[in-house]
Amino acid sequence: MSNTYRIGKIIGIPIKVDISFLIVLPLFAWFFSSRTMPFGFAGVQPEILKYGISLLTAILLFASVLIHELAHSYFSLRYGGSIKEIRLHLLGGVAAMKKEVHEPLKVIIIVAAGPLSSIVLGALLLILNYTLNPVSLREGNSLFIVAFILGYLNIFLGFYNLIPAFPMDGGRILRAFLSIYMDFVKATEKAVLIGKIFAVSIGILGLFTNIWLLLIAFYIYGNASREEQLVKMRYNRF
Ligand SMILES: [Zn+2]
Repeated sequence: MSNTYRIGKIIGIPIKVDISFLIVLPLFAWFFSSRTMPFGFAGVQPEILKYGISLLTAILLFASVLIHELAHSYFSLRYGGSIKEIRLHLLGGVAAMKKEVHEPLKVIIIVAAGPLSSIVLGALLLILNYTLNPVSLREGNSLFIVAFILGYLNIFLGFYNLIPAFPMDGGRILRAFLSIYMDFVKATEKAVLIGKIFAVSIGILGLFTNIWLLLIAFYIYGNASREEQLVKMRYNRF
């Protein structure tokens, strides 16, 4: 049973959205409509404009995730990989590989292209807002606030993905870097260990500060273990 719907094709890659996306999109739109400026549109009148612009922001946020995945895909195709499809789902996006690239330096470029595209896009949006907006970066009409929110979130998305732990891009960059000096399974083990140490550290920090950090810690720890198992299974190394 397929839970994904194809919405188009870019640079030869089918773009699909998961059914969970249909739930999360209105949820994000509602979130933006209920927050006050500069992170939402709570005070905007009339109501139809408020909800319309909130939905637009949610759609553009997922378009940003798509750009991030396309950046990975573009360099993967350039270096001889092939992409089956890009899927957008509840927690973001994924570019599903048909044929992977293995040379470490090329992998580093492919993986780093995603977060770097997010950071550049975010910076461009904030610069655009700063230069064209007559009021200030965090105020102005709704379209400037859309640019501010997307600029801010793209920069966050970029740096969040650079965290050196699986499943974030930073974990893959770290492994590719280590695999210059050792075999792929060993590099995975080391990258996973660093990711786990990172997860435990932010978990402890989360206990005393913010419960969300604890949840992220569990998520990172679980994914790190899973990545190690997958790689060992693929290479028959236990
Ligand atoms: Zn990425």
